[in-house]
Amino acid sequence: NLSGRLEGIVKKIRGKGRLTEADVDEVMKEIRTALLEADVNVTVVRSVCNRIREHAIGATRSQALDPGQQVVKAVNDELTRALGGETLSITYASKPPTVVLMAGLQGSGKTTNSAKLASWFKAQGRQPLLVGADLQRPAAVEQLRTLGAQIDVPVYSDPEDPVLTAHQGLEEAKRLGRDVLIVDTAGRLSIDAEMMEQVRLISGAVDPDYTFLVIDAMTGQDAVQTAEAFHETLKIDGVIMSKMDGDARGGAALSVKEVIGRPIAFASTGEKLNEFEQFHPDRMAGRILGMGDMLTLIEQAEAAFEQDQAEQAAAKMMEGQFTLDDFLDQMQQIKKMGSLGNLMSMMPGIPKELKNADIDDDSLKPIEAIIRSMTMEERTFPKVINGSRRARIAAGSGTQVGDVNRLVKQFDEMQKMMKKMGVMGGGMGKKGKKG
Ligand code: GDP
Ligand code: MG
Repeated sequence: NLSGRLEGIVKKIRGKGRLTEADVDEVMKEIRTALLEADVNVTVVRSVCNRIREHAIGATRSQALDPGQQVVKAVNDELTRALGGETLSITYASKPPTVVLMAGLQGSGKTTNSAKLASWFKAQGRQPLLVGADLQRPAAVEQLRTLGAQIDVPVYSDPEDPVLTAHQGLEEAKRLGRDVLIVDTAGRLSIDAEMMEQVRLISGAVDPDYTFLVIDAMTGQDAVQTAEAFHETLKIDGVIMSKMDGDARGGAALSVKEVIGRPIAFASTGEKLNEFEQFHPDRMAGRILGMGDMLTLIEQAEAAFEQDQAEQAAAKMMEGQFTLDDFLDQMQQIKKMGSLGNLMSMMPGIPKELKNADIDDDSLKPIEAIIRSMTMEERTFPKVINGSRRARIAAGSGTQVGDVNRLVKQFDEMQKMMKKMGVMGGGMGKKGKKG
């Protein structure tokens, strides 16, 4: 997948001060191949790649990320954007019911996902009514009734005619006070004029607030033609990607969104009714990239880390001017990046035993409390801390005098060591002063 390819590239350009256009071109070659391997439509690959390239070249030098990380971030940002950016939020009709029409090819998962969607609406506190307007296959309405019974949602259908069923279903919802109507329709194995005409008539009969196209994620690039054809006949508002459990590559999702310009609203990830969720573009991008955790880590580092500050701290350390107040600062930086345990679990290459180890964030709390109870003078020159000050600090921080002693002693030793290293390292910390 893309992850393996990117990793190699990232290693190569890590440590480079600046990215050249040639570097970016090389990265783009890998990304293009990876997207094609993920079964993304060729046209889509071209446009997404162009945008990633611009983004990567234009990326202003981030202070927290090295060039390799910048490229990964550019790819992730563009993929997320290409997948729709934000998760779709449903706007309910001011005059209920909110009508949802389900369209798609036979076997794509319309009936299953009608029930899943009904269950989702129920969880949102709504009272849906299902309508079985697929009279093509004799068992279709029965399938919907069985699913409806499982989630305790009523099903309306009239064996007479699908368009009539849809129309009457709407009246039934109003009469029963059901505030969401979900209309399941018939599909064919491939695009078919008769099928399109029928679903168009059903759409006309109920005037849906949302028309969802159900797409089988396993169909890969074929999804593009299906989406285009349905979007020509019906105004598609969103896509339900079904069978995502079987598709590790994600090409269909990326292609469809780009081609019809409509977001993917929901994802179905199994046959069970609870295997259904709102679609999160960022998670899918992570999945295509195959490095979700690494990306989270990069984002957190970027948000929390301030290069200058870190450099200043390092310089002070080397000169032995690092105070307890600086130490407190550094602890805050680490905290901004999440808990220590969290941080460890996201780092690649950390052994499992360590990842699962219970790292106690609370162990830092007394240290923080002690430093906070010190005056600035005490933080800068811990030597002034005599017996009475120790007692005051311990009382103020809710610790024991011994704890304060230990911290001051450890810090003193650390400072001595830093000074030594500073001398050995040829005064790396003096860089700032001379320059
Ligand atoms: P329809 O013809 O469009 O109504 O499709 P169905 O809802 O009848 O689904 C066709 C088949 O796909 C059924 O066997 C479903 O159980 C199965 N199916 C639907 N959604 C999913 C999914 O997300 N994952 C898997 N693995 N199977 C699914
Ligand atoms: Mg069906």
